[in-house]
Amino acid sequence: MKASVVGFPRIGRLRELKFACEKYFRSELPAAQLDQTARELRLAHWTMQRDAGIDMIPSNDFSFYDTTLDTAVLFGLVPQRYRVLGLSALDTYFAMARGYQGEAGDVHALPMKKWFNTSYHYNVPEIDDAAEIALVGTKPIDEYLEAKAAGIETKPAILGPFTLLNLANYTGSRQLADVVEPLASAYADLITRLSDAGAGWIQLDEPWLVRDLDKRDIALFRRLYAPILDARGNSRVLLQTYFGDIRDCYRDVCALAFDGIGLDFIEGVQTAELVANYGFPQDKVMFAGLVNGKNIWRNHYAHTIGTIAALRGGTRAPIVLSTSCSLLHVPYTLEHETQLNDSYRCHFAFAEEKLAELAELAELAELLDRDDPSSTPAAKANAALMGARPDSVDEAVRARVVAVPAGAQTRLPARPVREVIQKKELGLPLFPTTTIGSFPQTQEIRSMRARRRHGEISQQRYEEFLRDQIAEVVRRQDEVGLDVLVHGEFERNDMVEYFGERLDGFVFTRFAWVQSYGTRCVKPPIIWGDVSRPKPMTVSWSSYAQSLTDKPMKGMLTGPVTILNWSFPREDIPVRDTTRQIALAIRDEVLDLEAAGIRVIQVDEAALREKLPLRRSDWQREYLDWAIPAFNLVHSGCRPETQIHTHMCYSEFADIIPAIDAMDADVISFEASRSELEILDSLAHNRFETEVGPGVYDIHSPRIPSEREIGEALARMLDKVAPDKLWVNPDCGLKTRSNAEVWPSLRNMVAAALKLRAQR
Ligand code: GLN
Ligand code: ZN
Repeated sequence: MKASVVGFPRIGRLRELKFACEKYFRSELPAAQLDQTARELRLAHWTMQRDAGIDMIPSNDFSFYDTTLDTAVLFGLVPQRYRVLGLSALDTYFAMARGYQGEAGDVHALPMKKWFNTSYHYNVPEIDDAAEIALVGTKPIDEYLEAKAAGIETKPAILGPFTLLNLANYTGSRQLADVVEPLASAYADLITRLSDAGAGWIQLDEPWLVRDLDKRDIALFRRLYAPILDARGNSRVLLQTYFGDIRDCYRDVCALAFDGIGLDFIEGVQTAELVANYGFPQDKVMFAGLVNGKNIWRNHYAHTIGTIAALRGGTRAPIVLSTSCSLLHVPYTLEHETQLNDSYRCHFAFAEEKLAELAELAELAELLDRDDPSSTPAAKANAALMGARPDSVDEAVRARVVAVPAGAQTRLPARPVREVIQKKELGLPLFPTTTIGSFPQTQEIRSMRARRRHGEISQQRYEEFLRDQIAEVVRRQDEVGLDVLVHGEFERNDMVEYFGERLDGFVFTRFAWVQSYGTRCVKPPIIWGDVSRPKPMTVSWSSYAQSLTDKPMKGMLTGPVTILNWSFPREDIPVRDTTRQIALAIRDEVLDLEAAGIRVIQVDEAALREKLPLRRSDWQREYLDWAIPAFNLVHSGCRPETQIHTHMCYSEFADIIPAIDAMDADVISFEASRSELEILDSLAHNRFETEVGPGVYDIHSPRIPSEREIGEALARMLDKVAPDKLWVNPDCGLKTRSNAEVWPSLRNMVAAALKLRAQR
């Protein structure tokens, strides 16, 4: 059996591409050298896959920033404002990716959005009137030939037209329907060129197919692909889907003239059933995505071989073993994780280890005709591994989860009653002012943290330093006149890592970077076992900060859904169970904060929206039904006097407003400054009950907002929000900003609130 990889990470084992690009951005590296680094990385990645025994190796999965952006540029989707800069092709590309400020002009980047249900961000393509839709680039052909010159046959992988058109923004006079013909013919030109270059297989990625589709979507898909399939010549075209099953178009897709179809058996809960019910055409190759491209656990060989055996019982089509999606979403290699004990390490497979698994599984599957593969040493070793994960079960945690009574997640009394009690207890003015939690992480703070990590300063010295920082930020917030203060989060590098490091059940890596966007990478912690809190995590910082002021000091925690969504979850128990364990741990912290005299507690759910299932029909049952109760469990034990806040870094929750209200927080802050406040209409329309702090200014920009513009934003908000429900705050934490920007901005914000109060 052959083995195929959908896509391979490109940032480099030691993030070589990140560092080279960043040097190029700072004009410290010439374009030719950046290109050289890129070539070296591509060659290294192809060679590695070939040496591991992968038969179908992707090319064109490389990108300097983002492959969606690459595809847009390849087909001429370059908006006018970038064209007029008159930069080189590479710099125009980077201007679209990151914005440009210099002699040639001043333009924002294309917006970024989360790539389907992952934490990776893509640049949203834009089709304006300047778009000349045609094949204007050669990247996939160049990279195919580059590999070929190195003696490696690859399958060029390109984002397909159906997904591209559905992801794009239309800002000119043309809408989606107007660009179908030119785009399909541009893709057909590309296919012809690749075919002429000798490509055996060409992979077109269409993750949009796993979403809810109707007849019109399917008709559009057919129209796009007719000319493409006609253009293939001697090449074979693989339709690659991932991030779910294609239940709405499975039969349509099987009826089209593709040479291969890539199906996701990991996230595609109905994939196996679809194949069993409707069969799979014999004249096509099935690329069976059975090795998880999104998580870091070793593959369960017996399950995988079992699935392959079942598939072979149902179809005579040739099967190629594949990753379920690109390996972009997992780190490179375990090789550098030398601090991880072997009894842990052997349970993980990052991208490189997954290559070995694919090759090994393909060999085992080969045996299916003759032998029982389960008796081979490889299968036996894997079976032994699956049974044995040290320290992953904590009976006490499990017993506690089970013992939570059914009603325990309902906070009493009801929110309107609490609202009255809290207004009296906290004595806050109308339009109370606050911030989202973090204050600038200065160079000094980062360097002290690094010195502590390297053992250059003692824990005591480090904590003294942090206390000084807290005292200073409390003093300045008092001076500016904010109403609800924060301690500044100086002790945290990251809002998930900080808690993960203090909770039992997590494992940390040192170099396991995953690209988040462009040159930015994250290092998600791994949830290894049952999660619990051995001791308080934030109480000493919050109570120290509270001791410095009479104003309420807001305790600051990360919520269970966000901790889960920004970690690698377990596969041996459902994520809903893990989330409940985390919820109980955070609940303990909430109650300890309350007992220590903290009267306002914010539980951030910055990533709650992110893992909302791709199909609307799955939202409630597959996600909200457990995610929202997990949040409720965190604060349901609080006294009515304690005010619970939550925060979300986005405002695209118009579709799930009832669920957000059901979180039953007392106050929610969210991003609003860039979204034209549309969300407020939806809140009013849905009779949203929670008090709201729509961000009054954008912290993602270095600009200092004037008192007047904040006043105007508040006035617009008051058209939609009752005065006794409106909070005044920036739209996110301030940690990425400088003090020089933060304090004048907050001063203006407080002044705007005071003025508004005076008018009442
Ligand atoms: N409390 C966090 C902060 O202010 C929230 C960060 C976030 O929403 N991403 O930094
Ligand atoms: Zn935020």
